[in-house]
Formats: sequence, structure tokens, C-alpha cells
Amino acid sequence: MTAENRYDTKCIIYRRGEMRIGSIGGRAWLVTADGTGVDIAEASGGRFASAPQALYDVWDEFRVWAAEIGIDRFAPVDPASFELPVPRPRQVFAIGANYRAHAAEAGVAPPEQPVIFTKFPSCLAGPNDTVPIRHERVDWETELVVVMGREARNVTAAAAWDYVAGLAVGQDISERSIQRLGPMPQFSMAKSLPGFGPMGPLVVTADEFANPDDLELGCAVNGVTMQSSRTSDFIFSVGELVEYISHLMPMYPGDLIFTGTPEGVGATRKPPIFLKPGDVLTSWVEGVGTLVNPIIQEQAA
Ligand code: ZN
Repeated sequence: MTAENRYDTKCIIYRRGEMRIGSIGGRAWLVTADGTGVDIAEASGGRFASAPQALYDVWDEFRVWAAEIGIDRFAPVDPASFELPVPRPRQVFAIGANYRAHAAEAGVAPPEQPVIFTKFPSCLAGPNDTVPIRHERVDWETELVVVMGREARNVTAAAAWDYVAGLAVGQDISERSIQRLGPMPQFSMAKSLPGFGPMGPLVVTADEFANPDDLELGCAVNGVTMQSSRTSDFIFSVGELVEYISHLMPMYPGDLIFTGTPEGVGATRKPPIFLKPGDVLTSWVEGVGTLVNPIIQEQAA
């Protein structure tokens, strides 16, 4: 990939593995693996807007600019200040039963086509945000999140990574009673309550990984590991998901795909375990980052 060569040879700070995009104070920041960053609108003299979402509409142009910025512009940043890095995606795709072991624990056969629903964008939350709950059966689902960097239509699986801006950690938090209300599953409602879509902490470019199709991921509740798996257990890879979706409808820059959760959710345990106020939910993907989301009691409006 030409971009990779550029980082390796022309700019000391963008060695392979160091390009991350975040939001601090509602503004887009370029952040390095060593914990320094720069405000993108300021550093570019206004060439790029401060709104984090706008960056994905000009992703190719942004990457060329970012590869050339000098190391002297960067200053230390506080990871606790990171906010939701992709705040207003046009579309959020989410995939059900996409890990073999999770399909097994849920008692469903491995799907022959991707099972797709949406998380409404209003549920998205930041990497350090609290999650307010008022129901009894709130469950965790750690997921790898794909952030699109180009408009994609009829893309092949082999070409799909060229359309991806980067990866983030996500939680597809799910209220299992609402999910099962009525005769058909209510995935989109049950998984879109306010705060039920934490993601971040940064968007990490995919070329940083030796194999972006085999990443360790998991989550813990109050320090006790509940999920631990690898994305190589996917039934449909990132490439296959982009191919399938982009043949049905356009995918836009900044769109998200919550790619499904591995085994170890709370609802299928015996007895079941659910989140309660006071819990701290920690979620990670190897090389991508960690979310730390305290669960709190929702206050009456
Ligand atoms: Zn999920």
C-alpha cells in the first residue's frame, strides 16, 4: 500500500502503527501511539473542519496531509479527555450471530447470510461515558467497530479494506427483555437506548495491524473477564460484510459497522448475569484500545 510506504519512509512519527483519530472538546485530533496529539483544524490552518465527523468525508485527502505533518506540532493529551470519535454517522450497521461460538451459545445455527440490524446513532456514547440503565436485563456485547473512509457500492471482499478508515472498540449494549418483546426480535430498539453504543477511544487505521482479521477482544465487569475471543472466529469477515452490505445499499464515509459479539454474553449464562448500577464495564480490542464505561441508575426525567 502506498500510504504505508509513505509513513515508513517520509515521516518519523507515522511509522507503521501510529495513526489514530480522536475527539477532544468536540474537535478532531490526530493522536499518536505515544500519547501526543494535535488539533487537526488548528494544525491545518482550517483546511480541515474541527467537527470529527467531517473528517471521514475527506479521508483520502486528510491521510495525505496527516502523513506530512511535523512531530514538533504534537503535545501530550489526556486519554480521559477522549470523546465519541465518530459522533454523527449517517448509518450504523450491526451484525447478529457473527461468531461461531456465540451463535452456539445463543442456540442458533451459523447464519448463511449476515444478520443485519441498526443501532440508531442517538445511542452512541464516548469511551469514558457512563451508561444510564433503568431495566433489569441489560447485557454486554464487546465488538470490533469498522469506520468507513470512502463511499462503498458493490465493493468486493478483496477490496473492502481500501474503503475502511479504521477500527475502534464498541459495546453493543442490549436490553434482553425489550429484545424479546413481541413475536419478532426487536434488536434495533433493544440495542439503541441512550448510551447503549459506547465506542472509541480512537479510530485506529487498519494498516497498523499485521493481520486486521485476527484481533483479540473481550470485556470485563468489575475486573472479572466475561468475554475473550478473537475476530478470526467471525462467520463473516470485515471484507465479506462490506461486500454484502455495499451490494444492497450505499455505505457512506463515517458509517459504522458493529461487527458482532463473541461468546460470553450475560443472558446465556446459567444463571444469567446482567449489568447493574455501580458496575464498571471495561471493553478492549487488541491494538485498538479500551473503553471504560461505568453503569449508573437512570434518573427520572
Ligand atoms: Zn451485537
